[in-house]
Amino acid sequence: MSESRVLDAEVGIVGGGPAGMAAAARLRAAGLSVVVLDEGHRAGGQIFRQLPLGASGQAIAEPPSHHHGHTLLAAFGLSRAELRSGAVVWDAKPGRLWFEQDGQSWLLRCQRLLLAPGAYDRCIPFPGWTLPGVLTAGALQVMVRGFGIVPGQRAIVAGSGPLLLPTVTALLSAGVEVVAALEASTRWRTLRAVPGVLGNASRLKEAFWYGRQLLRAGVKLRFGWTIFGCEGDGRVQRATIGKVDADGRPRRDTAETHEVDVVGAGFGLVPSIELGLRLGCAARFDQNRGGHVLQLDGSQATTVQGVYGAGEIGGIGGAEVAIAEGELAAAAIVQELRGTEVPAAVRKKAQRERRAADAMLRAFAPLPGLHELAQPDTIVCRCEDVPLQRAREAALLHGTSLRAIKVGCRAGMGPCQARICGPSLQALATGDRNRVMDLPVAQVPLKVVASDTIRNAPIG
Ligand SMILES: Cc1cc2nc3c(=O)[nH]c(=O)nc-3n(C[C@H](O)[C@H](O)[C@H](O)COP(=O)(O)OP(=O)(O)OC[C@H]3O[C@@H](n4cnc5c(N)ncnc54)[C@H](O)[C@@H]3O)c2cc1C
Repeated sequence: MSESRVLDAEVGIVGGGPAGMAAAARLRAAGLSVVVLDEGHRAGGQIFRQLPLGASGQAIAEPPSHHHGHTLLAAFGLSRAELRSGAVVWDAKPGRLWFEQDGQSWLLRCQRLLLAPGAYDRCIPFPGWTLPGVLTAGALQVMVRGFGIVPGQRAIVAGSGPLLLPTVTALLSAGVEVVAALEASTRWRTLRAVPGVLGNASRLKEAFWYGRQLLRAGVKLRFGWTIFGCEGDGRVQRATIGKVDADGRPRRDTAETHEVDVVGAGFGLVPSIELGLRLGCAARFDQNRGGHVLQLDGSQATTVQGVYGAGEIGGIGGAEVAIAEGELAAAAIVQELRGTEVPAAVRKKAQRERRAADAMLRAFAPLPGLHELAQPDTIVCRCEDVPLQRAREAALLHGTSLRAIKVGCRAGMGPCQARICGPSLQALATGDRNRVMDLPVAQVPLKVVASDTIRNAPIG
């Protein structure tokens, strides 16, 4: 019975986003058998997200980078790599991936593993952020671009980093009025991104495209502003916004209130490294790249033999980095399995793209003062409904490590396993705004799956 649920391939890839698709196409071109596992309903990942098959939605204006997306999706389709969509990977060890698909428990056995699971939104709690109608910037994109859902009529988008712009343009395309678009970094700080944009033709084109869209819609990006809080009866009805200082601390005297029915808040992205940690790969902390990232060498190899990483798992960088690193990881795997040298141009492209992204993202490293937005009764862990005050008491009573706070108040112990609250939890609970999150421990199951899936998991 369990034999029928075991798959074999030379290379197993987690993630059918830009990194995973680029790698799969290159591996297939070298004649290797490839299985790509993705929990999404179609290939594309976060940025090249497609509507479900057969669904129709409003045409969303696409920035120039999305044209690469069409080429990549076509190349991936032609490569005939086996894509398993709706496949949730919940455990791993070198050469083995356990996943759930259509209620069935599966094992993929492979010689090499490539981890390309992307990232998730960085949340910074503020009063009212758990009200219906308040979403992360990424979740708004998923609703609009992935499901064709129009989330409301009047929106405020706040946060920090390049993801704000696609969120604003997706909402505008869907016919939503964007009352305010707020970048927490000051104008001066965001100027640090200029060398990274100027040195990269496609990023420059992209910046112009977004600028034109905002200008056309009459939306002004306010620098050094953020969301202070949301209110409403049963769902968001009002949002208070205001200026922050260079450190991100709210300047309460500047507060103004707007009537809205949608708020998107995204303070950057956090690399999704749990799979790598579960496999025993070493990680390091890199503030500018989003926090803890997998340690990768010049060929995208992790510290565990036969396991590679590409894209956001090695640090936030965007789609161009993900594609270039996916190709490099694939070329390195081909070298190991077939003896063909990694082309120098592939290596150089990955280095160039990563350098440009690092230069740009320096401008958007998390602002510690934003942790002052939360009030004592603001929920910090939404899975377990833990308010800030309780997390503070836990830190005082049990200690300031991530584990001590979790044990002391259950924050981070719900279904998201601290993906949402973790990055800010220690800074909030200890009152040390600069406190860096401890390296989390990867708990199995890594994602929510049915207990039957775990019980019936093939032995491997
Ligand atoms: C919600 C969200 C929306 C975004 N929207 C944009 C955008 O509009 N424009 C933009 O420039 N950038 C966007 N980004 C940034 C984007 O992540 C990167 O620029 C780019 O897509 C990274 O490519 P990647 O291949 O590394 O990862 P991704 O594109 O994130 O692909 C990773 C894939 O891995 C899958 N996956 C992860 N874990 C598992 C698991 N355990 N089991 C099975 N599958 C798994 C995911 O379903 C996903 O499809 C977004 C990020 C997020 C988190």
